[in-house]
Amino acid sequence: MSKQQSASTPTSVEAILVINCGSSSVKFSLIEPESGTTLLSGLAECLSTPQASIKIRHNARIDNEELIETSALAAPFDHQIALSALVNKLVQLNLVDNIIAVGHRVVHGGEHYAQPTLINTRVKKTIEALAKLAPLHNPANLIGINACQQAFSTLPQVAIFDTAFHQSMPEKAYLYGLPFELYQKHSIRRYGFHGTSHYFVANQAAKFMDKPLQQCNLISAHLGNGCSVTVIKNGQSVDTSMGMTPLEGVMMGTRSGDIDASIIFHLVEQLGFSIEQVDTLLNKKSGLLGLSELSNDCRTLESAMLDKNNPQSTQAELALTVFCYRIAKSIASFSASLSELDGLIFTGGIGENSSWVRQEIVNQLGLLNFHLCEENNQATRFGTSGNIAISTSRPCWVIATNEEWVIAEQTAQLLKSNLAGEL
Ligand code: AMP
Repeated sequence: MSKQQSASTPTSVEAILVINCGSSSVKFSLIEPESGTTLLSGLAECLSTPQASIKIRHNARIDNEELIETSALAAPFDHQIALSALVNKLVQLNLVDNIIAVGHRVVHGGEHYAQPTLINTRVKKTIEALAKLAPLHNPANLIGINACQQAFSTLPQVAIFDTAFHQSMPEKAYLYGLPFELYQKHSIRRYGFHGTSHYFVANQAAKFMDKPLQQCNLISAHLGNGCSVTVIKNGQSVDTSMGMTPLEGVMMGTRSGDIDASIIFHLVEQLGFSIEQVDTLLNKKSGLLGLSELSNDCRTLESAMLDKNNPQSTQAELALTVFCYRIAKSIASFSASLSELDGLIFTGGIGENSSWVRQEIVNQLGLLNFHLCEENNQATRFGTSGNIAISTSRPCWVIATNEEWVIAEQTAQLLKSNLAGEL
């Protein structure tokens, strides 16, 4: 099913409003969970600044996109006002009565939540307490929950945690080589992220193989602005590259991924960095951006690399080469978690679209018997899915992720099972 699927909207259709709230943005979709059809979607950005804007797309069609101008408003256009604009649009399009619940993406559920969870006061308190592990994300997610509770006061609100899929990891995968007390008293351990995406693409791969997910052994590479690799054994996450925070693991757009922890002491003690500067350096100035000194955007780097007249061509190539090597190394290391391997999955903006990155990674995985078909690799982009490996290779699937649909589906399933429990 494509993200861009369109549909007319019968009034009887039951839909889930999916909310992904960041510190200055709200991404939303109204999804019919049975079919995955997107009835409405949009993005409010730069909230609480003069540049605030909100775009709403009806029936997922670009020609039905409306940009609501906000600069003329006297009040700051914040999360609450963005959601009010969304509600007005839903009323105008006669869609409010279709909504049966709101599903929220929540980044950090710690060890508390391995399943979709109905939000109540206690759950909100726990999400708030977990902000110490995800200071950029959980407070923003709570803003979205509070605003939706006001805007849709009669609807159930459900939290879907990015960390939930990885709660099946064994101790040997989630513990760091640090004093045990830090785990026991301060919850310092690997949690992993991008869980809904890895779960979705693993399910799709199971469908390609016509096997139950519980019998599938896979390695999934979510490569977008944030990147993570997850190993899935018998349908469950058993290890993943991101750690206590989304900074660990493979190199990303602006994040360094793994580095020697002593580099931090060196930056502070020898080079005079403050802790805040180190934080910004590792999260916002490193990765593809830091190495290329050009961009964090894979498209910009690829076109610079391929244009031999571009003076930044060599450095763009260097950044992409390091990026791919580190991902290939991570994939190869995760084979240690498995005794069988059905295939490799690429997803996320880069994984779904960059044939160059996929080729560069897979070229280094010959020992695991991964070999790409050049023609299929080139042809599989822009939302198309499929196996891009040659017939004698283990499969390498490109699968367009759809986290919003997972959130809608899991929210609907939770409502159903709660209703069944009440009967
Ligand atoms: P995401 O965070 O999943 O939206 O992915 C964003 C990343 O995907 C950015 O680095 C984009 O440059 C990259 N991307 C999107 N489209 C393409 C493309 N056609 N070719 C290469 N990279 C792409």
